[in-house]
Amino acid sequence: MLTLGIETSCDETAAAIVEDGVSVRSSVVASQHELHAEYGGVVPEIASRAHVERIVPIVRLALDGAGVSLGDLGSIGVGHRPGLIGPLLVGVSAAKSLAWTLGIPLIGVDHVHAHLYAGLLGGDRPAFPALGLVVSGGHSSIYRMDSPTVLARLGATIDDAVGEAFDKAATVLGLEHPGGPNLERLAQGGDPKSHELPISRLGKDSLDFSFSGLKTAMLYAVRGRPDSSGHFPRTHEDHSEQARRDLASSFQHACISAITLKLARAADANPDCRTLLTGGGVTANTPLRDALRAFAEERGLDLRLPEMRFCVDNGAMIAGLAHERLCAGIEDDLTLAPVPTTAC
Ligand code: AMP
Ligand code: MG
Repeated sequence: MLTLGIETSCDETAAAIVEDGVSVRSSVVASQHELHAEYGGVVPEIASRAHVERIVPIVRLALDGAGVSLGDLGSIGVGHRPGLIGPLLVGVSAAKSLAWTLGIPLIGVDHVHAHLYAGLLGGDRPAFPALGLVVSGGHSSIYRMDSPTVLARLGATIDDAVGEAFDKAATVLGLEHPGGPNLERLAQGGDPKSHELPISRLGKDSLDFSFSGLKTAMLYAVRGRPDSSGHFPRTHEDHSEQARRDLASSFQHACISAITLKLARAADANPDCRTLLTGGGVTANTPLRDALRAFAEERGLDLRLPEMRFCVDNGAMIAGLAHERLCAGIEDDLTLAPVPTTAC
């Protein structure tokens, strides 16, 4: 069974062909970073228009890359929630049109849940129940998963997502959008212990995250405390290159500590989970990947980290989860609608 996966929830237009839910035959991602760079973040209307222009050529490239034609497809999956409503509408409309024209099943999937599927692409099936961690630009959540399609959220951020915090910290340090990878680069050669930045615990049993306090602490560490008129005494340019590296490294260290702290609580509370599935753009961060490997080894967990190319938004994770849902008897019809919020 060949599944076409379509992803347009934010600023990546992506399509992929996946065989039997795990074998990736092609994956094409057109990023819009250059369109949004001058605004320092994603502009929804610009993103929507770019998706409209790109969706057909990207689907064509995915088909060509897999060496198949539309008639070979067995089903179509689309990320229909959560995300920016205009961008989602483009992907959902394209998926519906193709599924209706070809007379094949249409499956809507939750983008956040699809990130957890990314670590299953190309590999064997791990044991369930599993713990799931999604760390991305819009989400920081921990799940308990009975299967890839049956999952319950145990905790989520109460303010900013960790990727968003990375992006804001990068801006404060004078780095360009997208901030996360640029901050990781700057942090190389920095001392992670040079600044003690706060890690939110939110009570002793909470599995929720909070990154707003850390973000503010980072702002003050770089620019100093503002006076009564809101004026900051310094900018990032007043710091030496080494001082900026130290700040970036300390910030990154605090984010990673916050993530492993909550994962440890989740693992303690769910000792029957022997697998840890992870996904989302921030799982592309090498020090976080190293920390997750160390955590999993210490706890005896079977860790599934997505390949680097499947950490950020992509169509393969959508196709994979769509196939899984279809096998579980879940299918949508042409009433499938884009939804800005996650299912759980
Ligand atoms: P997503 O929301 O899944 O598309 O992921 C995008 C988010 O991941 C953005 O906030 C990026 O800054 C963040 N991100 C991507 N690569 C890295 C990295 N190497 N280190 C930290 N954050 C990253
Ligand atoms: Mg995402």
